[in-house]
Amino acid sequence: MESRKLSGAVVRDAVFAELSAGVASSDCQPGLAVVLVGDDPASRVYVASKGKACDKLGFHHVTHRLPVDTSESEVLDLIDSLNTDQDIHGILVQIPLPGHISEGRIQAAVDPRKDVDGFHPDNLGRLLAGQPRFVPCTPKGIVEMLRFHEVDLPGREVAIVGRSVIVGRPLAMLLSLKTVPGNATVTLCHSATRDLASVTRRADIVVAAMGYPGGLTREHIAEGAGVVDVGINRIDDPAAKKGYRLVGDVAPEALDGWASAYTPVPGGVGLMTIAMLMRNTWDAMQLQVGGS
Ligand code: NDP
Repeated sequence: MESRKLSGAVVRDAVFAELSAGVASSDCQPGLAVVLVGDDPASRVYVASKGKACDKLGFHHVTHRLPVDTSESEVLDLIDSLNTDQDIHGILVQIPLPGHISEGRIQAAVDPRKDVDGFHPDNLGRLLAGQPRFVPCTPKGIVEMLRFHEVDLPGREVAIVGRSVIVGRPLAMLLSLKTVPGNATVTLCHSATRDLASVTRRADIVVAAMGYPGGLTREHIAEGAGVVDVGINRIDDPAAKKGYRLVGDVAPEALDGWASAYTPVPGGVGLMTIAMLMRNTWDAMQLQVGGS
């Protein structure tokens, strides 16, 4: 079977081109503040890539790096000041946060109009109500990628494996909205799903967001189905320059030569997450400057 590789890079480039043109013709510069608490190595890499994307697009950006023992009230004070900072239109608090800080309380403290991560209960509620404003970046990026690559969705069966608030749950909402793109028939699977393979094998499109390599194999995916691999896992590889390489949640045997189309790791959904963060920041600026 000939498989189509759905590149995230081409979609990201198209989004960046549109945003760069917007910045060049705007009187106002979009501003993003990133809050990083602690020293998680993966988080540091993500934060650095967000800064690079801002530089590339001409966005103003500030990163607040706080020590791991910062108290929750100190983080809340910082959020308060960013909420009223006129130069900052988007606020992103990098997760995971250290265990003594409640992610829920921090996310709820961000002004919903600056919530470019889309995790504020207001924004999640709007998505559920079918009136999305800021949608979490990874699911938004997946939908944008499918739209760009003209993957047909209406009426098709999509099985999503993983129900986190970051990926699976908002994606299920987005794909089942009565809009274009949308109108898919969605099944949301998790660790209590009985006979996962029998559910996922029925699907036209399978989305893997489980959090470990090889979570889905050929046993789980019908030959010729489409696969969106959201996973990002580091595995040791002494032959690689950095000593590790990135792999997804789907075994390679279930992708190239088996799926009709699939998103690669790296070079797929991960690039879209950053692109959608930039788009949300742009949209947040429009919202605040427009005053609505
Ligand atoms: P979580 O650990 O929060 O969620 C994992 C989900 O998978 C849970 O809902 C869990 O079920 C489910 N699950 C785990 N094992 C099984 C199983 N055997 N059968 C069925 N369901 C299972 O992960 P995230 O959503 O945060 O991330 C998922 C993956 O996506 C990770 O690899 C992460 O690195 C990647 N990711 C990639 C991003 C990108 O930009 N490309 C952005 C965000 C995440 P239960 O709820 O029952 O525990």
